[in-house]
Amino acid sequence: MSRLVDSHCHLDFEDFADERGEVIARARRAGVGTLVTICTKITEFPSIRAIAETDPDIWCTVGIHPHEAASQPDTDEAALVEYVGHPKVIGVGECGLDYHYDYAPRDRQAEVFRTHARAARRAGVPMVVHTREADADTARLLTEESDGGRLAGVLHCFTSGRELAMHGLDLGFYVSFSGIITFKSAADLREIVKAVPLDRLLVETDAPYLAPVPMRGKRNEPAFVVHTAAAIAAMKGVSAEELASITTENFHRLFTKAAKAA
Ligand SMILES: [Zn+2]
Ligand SMILES: [Zn+2]
Repeated sequence: MSRLVDSHCHLDFEDFADERGEVIARARRAGVGTLVTICTKITEFPSIRAIAETDPDIWCTVGIHPHEAASQPDTDEAALVEYVGHPKVIGVGECGLDYHYDYAPRDRQAEVFRTHARAARRAGVPMVVHTREADADTARLLTEESDGGRLAGVLHCFTSGRELAMHGLDLGFYVSFSGIITFKSAADLREIVKAVPLDRLLVETDAPYLAPVPMRGKRNEPAFVVHTAAAIAAMKGVSAEELASITTENFHRLFTKAAKAA
């Protein structure tokens, strides 16, 4: 059986503090072979990296979430590149633009976004992009920073418009969908799932948030990515087995530093 990848979760969050080992074991039993625990605060990076170091199939990223763009210590391109030098660090992010909450001033979000994009390019790893209600600015910044296709990455937990999805695909980006695609209200998003080519799709939980149906309302955890993957398989008209193998191949094509799970 093909094993799934949860390409985006937050294992360091308090929600998992009491039973992180159990959460990881349940993911394994559910057929989720690889987990990527994503950094949102540079101050937490050492503990995130430490989680990745406990298990050969857990990887991590380094970066500053747009919510934290004004509150986290200044981190320059060179510092990010140096963090990426660690073998368990496979990408830069999550970073981007979040105009839904606007927790940080927009110009500051953009500045941090650019620094991350440049670090990802220089380090030769993909960027994990968080974008919410910021489609036009995200498209513009990605185009400017991609420098003719030299920036690789993923639009994570995609909830934006079709145009941004297509723009990202044109730049060579992948699109990752979370449990939101199983929500009744997400009909428009399901149309975008159908429009993204199979070879550019990733799946994720964004746990502890956004548990998919039929777990909606519970704390999310990486094992639940199987429900999201099953829903996408149905939308794409492929078997769950095929979708697992395709999305896992996609993941490894993008995140080249991550070794395949045994
Ligand atoms: Zn995010
Ligand atoms: Zn996240």
